[in-house]
Amino acid sequence: MLIHRIINTKFSSCTYVIEVAHDQAWVVDCGDVPPLLEALKHKKLCGILLTHGHFDHIYGLNDVCRMFPEAMVYTNAAGRDALLSDRQNLSRYHETPFTFHFPERIIVVGDNETIPLSDTLKIRTVATPGHHPSCLTYVTDNVVFTVDSFIPNVGVVTILPGGDKALAAKSEELILELSRGSTIYAGHY
Ligand SMILES: [Zn+2]
Repeated sequence: MLIHRIINTKFSSCTYVIEVAHDQAWVVDCGDVPPLLEALKHKKLCGILLTHGHFDHIYGLNDVCRMFPEAMVYTNAAGRDALLSDRQNLSRYHETPFTFHFPERIIVVGDNETIPLSDTLKIRTVATPGHHPSCLTYVTDNVVFTVDSFIPNVGVVTILPGGDKALAAKSEELILELSRGSTIYAGHY
């Protein structure tokens, strides 16, 4: 498994490309499209794992889903709502309102579900609300994608709609526990 980080132009959010074979990849979150296409050159995009529904982590989705018609989009129920509402994903308050055009490709996952990334590799969802109810952390082989639920040395943002300080503290504790000995991939750089 190889992981590439793309630092996006909007708020320096991160997209991660998980290469599971030389010709197959998964993506965690979806911002700027050109560098992502470059990273996915000659590869099949198997699916897109969303860490939450804020627009700075999803704004490239429509273009990428158009270009990769087989890729499904994984998120929880709150994430699906945010994908379909520019108010909930907060893009309405920024320069380009965003709503997702392919609702039929959303796969709603909950806490502690396993998604097979390849024949030999699985990734597990962990609900980590606090930053937003749609927050999922993804855990696989010594790797934890926490994105906005936990950014080392930076506090979790809980002042946006749907934020909850107490839940964020609980999620942070959980993430510290399950990331022991693992590499953390956070949401902003
Ligand atoms: Zn966020």
